[in-house]
Amino acid sequence: MWLLLSVCVFCLLGCSEGQDRATLWRGNDHSGRCQYTFSVPSPSETSCSPTVSGGPEMEGLKARLSLLEVLVARLTGGEIGGPGAGYQSQAGLQEALTQAMGERILLQGEKERLERDVEGLQRRMEEMRRETERLQSRPCYPQPPLLPPSIPLQDSGLRPAGGAGVLSHLVSRPGRQWDTGSLRDPAWQYGGNPVLQELKAEVTEIPAPSPEGPEDNTGCGELISIGEPVSHRKADSIAGKYGVWMQDPEAVAPYGGKMVWRIDTVGSEVRQLFGYEDMDQLSKGFPSKVLLLPEPVESTGATLYRGSLYYQRRRSRTLLRYDLVSESIASRQDLPHAGFHGQFPYSWGGYTDVDLGVDEQGLWAVYSTNKAKGAIVVSQLDPHSLAVKRSWETSIRKNSVANAFVICGRLYTVASYTAPNTTINFMFDTATGQGKEVTLPFRNKYRYNSMVDYNHAQRKLFAWDNFHIVSYDVRLGHQ
Ligand code: CA
Repeated sequence: MWLLLSVCVFCLLGCSEGQDRATLWRGNDHSGRCQYTFSVPSPSETSCSPTVSGGPEMEGLKARLSLLEVLVARLTGGEIGGPGAGYQSQAGLQEALTQAMGERILLQGEKERLERDVEGLQRRMEEMRRETERLQSRPCYPQPPLLPPSIPLQDSGLRPAGGAGVLSHLVSRPGRQWDTGSLRDPAWQYGGNPVLQELKAEVTEIPAPSPEGPEDNTGCGELISIGEPVSHRKADSIAGKYGVWMQDPEAVAPYGGKMVWRIDTVGSEVRQLFGYEDMDQLSKGFPSKVLLLPEPVESTGATLYRGSLYYQRRRSRTLLRYDLVSESIASRQDLPHAGFHGQFPYSWGGYTDVDLGVDEQGLWAVYSTNKAKGAIVVSQLDPHSLAVKRSWETSIRKNSVANAFVICGRLYTVASYTAPNTTINFMFDTATGQGKEVTLPFRNKYRYNSMVDYNHAQRKLFAWDNFHIVSYDVRLGHQ
């Protein structure tokens, strides 16, 4: 046995020596057992160590890895560093992408909901616009009850339950036909809280002497005396606190001289003109005509003359002539340099800057200008064009008197609008251009007189005294 092994080892050694590089090692391993190691050099490889460059394949892998790192760095904003950064960035990107997609879905849903809300609001706006147009086309008046024609309507029984907008078929507009019927007096019945024009109290009381001189009831003359006020109607709501009422002293068809017209001037958008067939209907409160003026009225200075309503347009010095037949504005003209909207009012206030009136000689405007420094200016106007024909400047300050009117070309002023026993305290004669103080007794029975005008056909003063429509007889004569 030992012999055979020795032969084999010898042969191997011999072969090894024949090649000159084979080796055999014998020794104990780390556990103490005997171990034989046989080594033969490679016939083709000179070394087992890897090459420095790694070869073309390794270079390709490195290039692709570098390219991937650059791309990931761009996607993550260059925040790459250290081993595993690329993988973490990709995971972060994926998470951010998932979150963004979720938020996009939520925002899309919110956008759709808002679009539905916008559509709903647009529908509501359109409905409100149509409703507004409908209401604008139907001015608001209370409705009289549907009673048989044989049953007379009474003011006290006509208080509406439903309120506004039901008499619109009786309201005339330009171009429409004349409507008549038994209407209740709307503005004097409804409640509410209209805007009151600011007022200013100024009370002047002057002892009144007895009238003098012969009476002249047939023609023009100076004002000698004014009778006691006669009340024709009392308003029962704040809308009738003050206003203007008129009869056309030179009426034309289709309205007769008995027709009575009224404008309640409480509020900021005064456009309603009520017509009554006569004083009796006014007293009962049954207008037969309601006109909606195309432009709003300022204060209580309006007047009627030869089929037209003359008035000052709100917040302007523009005078308007409203033709009652065509129911439209027939003329307009600025009153040159006239103060308006509180610049030169009467002591009552109420934006009474421009006061129009009519007498035997025609149409007049009472106002003031900066040039006149608040003194009353009286101008005669062309009733067709509203142009000023001639003007006079007086010596009495407009805000020191309560009101004014013209009789036979003479301007008269009222001293106080609140004193129950006051006077006509000044007269200016346009024929002579001279003014003088006078003292004619005048009664403010209800202590808040907001309008006084002369009607030469009736030879009366018309006034509006604290909810009361009143008139005064006048006596003219020669001193
Ligand atoms: Ca007046």
